[in-house]
Amino acid sequence: MTIIDGKKTSQDIKDEVRDEVAKLKKGGVEPMLAVILVGENPASQVYVRNKKRACEYTGIRSLSYELPENTTEEELLKLIDELNNRSDCDGILVQLPLPKHIDEKKITNAISPKKDVDGFHPVNVGNMLIGDECFLPCTPHGIIELLHRYGVVLDGKKAVVVGRSNIVGKPMAMLLLRENATVTICHSHTSDLKKECTEADILIAAIGKPKFFTPEYIKNGAAVIDVGMDRDENGKLCGDVDFEAVKDKCSFITPVPGGVGPMTIAMLMQNTLISSSHRMR
Ligand code: NAP
Repeated sequence: MTIIDGKKTSQDIKDEVRDEVAKLKKGGVEPMLAVILVGENPASQVYVRNKKRACEYTGIRSLSYELPENTTEEELLKLIDELNNRSDCDGILVQLPLPKHIDEKKITNAISPKKDVDGFHPVNVGNMLIGDECFLPCTPHGIIELLHRYGVVLDGKKAVVVGRSNIVGKPMAMLLLRENATVTICHSHTSDLKKECTEADILIAAIGKPKFFTPEYIKNGAAVIDVGMDRDENGKLCGDVDFEAVKDKCSFITPVPGGVGPMTIAMLMQNTLISSSHRMR
């Protein structure tokens, strides 16, 4: 059994990005990511801080906007419009969730697809679906990167994705399909979840239920990727998979923390780098 070290892999990717950023800077391009936070959601504040820290590490300039809770939708749209038109801005990230009076869909759709480094804009989602050039959503793309770097074979394998959200489950299934896996998507209406999961060579758990996946859900020798970021009965961070109980059945497994989580930010840095390299076109 191999424990997939997302912390190390994400560090490797950030180092690769840092090298490329240094080269771009020599050529006169300074990659820049605009990070917008509205309100004072503590979890969002942590995510934004980590993203800014990763920018600092990789040499990407971060332009930070910390806006008050009562910012109007119009004000936010105006800022996005300004950033869309700034030639020195390569990526725009609006930290979700937004306060209730702001329509998240409207905001996501207002970001230029060329600067949508989160990969949430419908144009990028559509291009991903048909296999055209696009920004891939960071969490599922990070998972594909982990599987590749650990040599997990996907071609011809049966992959089961549990969860069908727009940011994790659905794009995850699409990216696995691109890798020639045979993909099943499960959700809360799946009639026999255990049966589906025990057929999986690759199981992606993304439901947001602490330690839900116990050994009865796991095929012997499966690669198990845990996307969950949950709290156990003691308030401790854990995943959707009961790691200790299932690990010996797996060929590969990601821990929580230290698995998928750190990859999301690394892929955000990679997307910003890709966007800035388009300036040379
Ligand atoms: P979400 O939008 O709440 O979606 C959860 C999905 O799981 C839904 O499709 C739901 O089915 C399905 N589901 C819930 N309970 C189920 C059950 N008992 N059996 C089968 N399916 C079930 O969540 P999300 O945003 O995708 O996030 C999922 C988890 O990943 C959360 O723990 C989140 O914190 C974590 N996450 C981590 C990262 C990272 O960077 N590591 C990034 C994003 C999310 P229905 O559609 O039928 O309701």
